[in-house]
Amino acid sequence: MADPTFSNLPTTIFEEMSGLARGLGAVNLGQGFPDDPGPLAIRQKASDAVLNGYNQYPPMTGLPELRQAVAAHYARSQGLELDWAREVTVTSGATEALAAAFLALIEPGDEVIVFQPLYDAYVPLIRRAGGVPKLVPLQPPTWRFDRALLEAAFSARTRFVVLNNPINPAGVVLPEADLALLAEFCVRFDCVAICDEVWEQVVFEGAVHRPLMAFPGMRGRTVKIGSAGKMFGLTGWKVGFLCAAPALTHSVSRAHQFLTFTTPPNLQAAVAWGLENAADWFREMPLGLQRARARLTEGLRREGFAVLPGQGTYFLNVDLAASGIDEPDRAFALRAVKDAGVATIPVSALYETAPVTTILRLCFSKRDETLDAGVERLARARELSRRAYATAV
Ligand code: PMP
Ligand code: GLN
Repeated sequence: MADPTFSNLPTTIFEEMSGLARGLGAVNLGQGFPDDPGPLAIRQKASDAVLNGYNQYPPMTGLPELRQAVAAHYARSQGLELDWAREVTVTSGATEALAAAFLALIEPGDEVIVFQPLYDAYVPLIRRAGGVPKLVPLQPPTWRFDRALLEAAFSARTRFVVLNNPINPAGVVLPEADLALLAEFCVRFDCVAICDEVWEQVVFEGAVHRPLMAFPGMRGRTVKIGSAGKMFGLTGWKVGFLCAAPALTHSVSRAHQFLTFTTPPNLQAAVAWGLENAADWFREMPLGLQRARARLTEGLRREGFAVLPGQGTYFLNVDLAASGIDEPDRAFALRAVKDAGVATIPVSALYETAPVTTILRLCFSKRDETLDAGVERLARARELSRRAYATAV
């Protein structure tokens, strides 16, 4: 008989690919983390806080200095007015913020709209909370929704919509008109939006991130989630923020208290300092990433790969079919890591249903040598794939 305590969930595609990369010594353009160690001054603040600061339990909702800094940062950067005492909760990364929001708000049977491709944590967590995911597929190259798609997705049963913007894995920053459209549907169907905006600071070339919370009718029905890990390129820190109107904050912080209760105070103190002192970092970090994106794009195009447009995140996408690769993305990604020494993310892994199997996600927050080696190895993988396919088909 099947063991009911045995999880059928696979490990995430990020864990799988990074594990293969570590084991095989491959160049890792899979999981999203920078080669750069992150801003020195912020790391020094963290080290100072560990050695000389307070290392006991901080308040459950987060250090007041960090909650104040988060509210001030969003006021400066996104024009939001948040009451730090009643509308900001510090969590252990965006992942815990998502879990807290889902567990606190979803009642068994509630329908939750999620767009595919999706960040891998959403659907398992929504199901654990008793929710019923309503999966809406988005298509390359633009990955945008429109009125017809939303009309088909929303109904009287819809209680929540989960929006990831800027979008991982697509690298797309949604334009204002799309956000206004989604806000219109949220208001019309009286639902709460859970907005995963961890990539909000990582936008390029004049693209502007707009929080859904700022659209008409959304202020009281939006849970906005951020992550210092992405803001400062310190992905292992797992310091996240939950921002929402007082009634929603009340509920999500009650779930947070039984998930992790608190988040390391030394890291919170360093992030608070960073938010208050990071104007240069927020200006320069996207420029460096934009240069890396351009370098990887040029290298890939020189080798005949078709690169899709994007305006944010650490990721760009390659259209395998348009690059002359007939193999499905997962098979190609396994061949690339095992036989050519480069790890990537097959985007089909980020669909629950009807996956698009022709897109490969590459992380470009890497040193030039890493990017150049990645291009060379991907070109080799394509050669191997073509040969295998020529023999097999
Ligand atoms: N949501 C998205 C869209 C992400 O890309 C990530 C991590 N890259 C997370 C959530 C998780 O963030 P954290 O590491 O702060 O938990
Ligand atoms: N968000 C990261 C990515 O998209 C991965 C985070 C994780 O491994 N859980 O690559």
